[in-house]
Order: sequence, then structure tokens, then C-alpha cells
Amino acid sequence: MSDPAQDTAAAPPALTRLEPGQSAEGRLHGLAGEAGADGVIRYAVDLGDIRVDLNALLDTGIEIEIDGRAICVGCGAPLIKRPSHGHCYECFTKKASMDLCFVAPTRCHFDQGTCREPEWGERVCMQPHAVYLANSGGLKVGITRHHDGVPRWVEQGATAGLVIARASTRHRAGLLEERIGARVNDKSDWRRQVTGGSPPLHLAQEAERIRAVVALPDDCVWEANTAHEIRYPIVRYLRRVVRLRYPDERVVRGRLTGIVGSFLLLDHGAFHIGDHRGFRARLTAVGTIDDLQGELF
Ligand SMILES: [Zn+2]
Repeated sequence: MSDPAQDTAAAPPALTRLEPGQSAEGRLHGLAGEAGADGVIRYAVDLGDIRVDLNALLDTGIEIEIDGRAICVGCGAPLIKRPSHGHCYECFTKKASMDLCFVAPTRCHFDQGTCREPEWGERVCMQPHAVYLANSGGLKVGITRHHDGVPRWVEQGATAGLVIARASTRHRAGLLEERIGARVNDKSDWRRQVTGGSPPLHLAQEAERIRAVVALPDDCVWEANTAHEIRYPIVRYLRRVVRLRYPDERVVRGRLTGIVGSFLLLDHGAFHIGDHRGFRARLTAVGTIDDLQGELF
């Protein structure tokens, strides 16, 4: 999964289409997805200097070869060990985006003047945030600094999302997220996402129920919105839950049957791009390919 805190100021490289037999190689940064004209999410895999159109490879064979040489996505330093969230130890301990408070925003310590990177904190955390409900294989509450929430929901593979409130900062949003979380059974489950088994949820009704029982922290306001549905490019979901991972799998090859969240669905398992951030990888378009899994399972 791509780092929501990552700066994306520079224009991304143009989208490349791979013809059968062609390869693209680079450092795995993550997946980028946005809604296309038909409402279906269009995905690209970000290999640093090159972005490859994944929807164009749907229902054809692909091969992903992971090179054991990993590089820090923060500073580009070569890594000896498997990267922590794609970062070297130095970046992991010095970057504000890698601080505990970034995943647990109620522990924000910006006001105490101890933010690791105050300028970054000002730009990223001390900004308006949305608090949302999503169906990520089950009901989930979360926060995002994207105004409409959609990029975050796509990243998480949610089939629907709804902004329930706005907050003045990441810290305030975190406080509200915690209060809502105490009233909501977080049921998000990646297994349901890759098998297409997300239960139907009425997010607007859930939001109404929550608004009635949760006290709003300072600098937060409720919003009444309808749910936004998200459609993923899927030919077929997985029939069995198998997670393909380096180093068990150094080369992953199969038919690309779908993309959801940060998962590439192949005929024999799901490959999570976010698990492999920082690794060098080569993606090859194989063209027509026989199913490894077939119809037997
Ligand atoms: Zn680094």
C-alpha cells in the first residue's frame, strides 16, 4: 500500500503499456488507482521512473520477479535486511511519517514541539482531515486528509465509503476515530476483499446510528453523506485465499484476474504490492497463459 504521507508533488511519469514479451523494471513504490470514465478503478504499478498500466494486462499472463536487493523508499539507500515499511532504519527512526503518532494520531505530540519534522507535520497533520466509514470486507472507521476519501478507500480495497465528519487536524480526526471505533466492531478483512466476500452494508444507516451516540470532539463537525461505491477491475475473485510473498515466491507468474486495494489477484493467489515496497522488481507481460489453478478448485 502506498504511503499516504508520501509527497507526490512531482508529476508522475507517463503511463506505459506493456505488450506481450515486454518488461518494465524498477523499484516498487506501490499501486496508484483512480476512477476511470466508466467508474471502474484504473490501476498503475509505480516502479519509480516508470508506471505500468495494469488494467491493460487484465485477464492475460504476467510475471513479477522480485530482486532480493531492496532500497529504502525514503532515501534510496541500499538495504541489507527486509525493509521496515519500505524504509531503512535511519528513515524509520527519523521520518515523522514513520513515527508511532502517524498511525496512532491521538498520540500526536506536535503541540509539545517534539514533532520529528515540524514543517512536514504542519503540512500533513495540522491540516483538515475527513473521518470516514468504509466497507473493507466489513465495517471500518478511518481518517484521511483527502477531501473525498476515495483515494484512501481505493488503497484499502473498500467497496464503498462515506465521509461522516470533518476535523481541523489529524489529531482531532484521530480522537473522533477512536470514539467511533469504540462503538463499531472493526470487521475489515482482506480475505473477503480478495474473494469478493465483502458483506453488504448500509453505510448511511451506520453513520446515522453513530452520530446519535458518539460525542463530537472540539473542532469536528458531522456531515451527512451518501455512500460512494467503488468498482474494481475484476474478471474473477480468488476461490481460495493464498497470499504470495517474497522470499517464498521469488517469481510470481499467472493470469491477472483482478486488482483490488493493493492486491494483484492471480489465478493461484493474491500478491500484495505494499508488502514488497522498496524491492527491485521486474514486471513482464506474458500474454496468453494457461490457468495454474484451473476450474478444479
Ligand atoms: Zn532511508
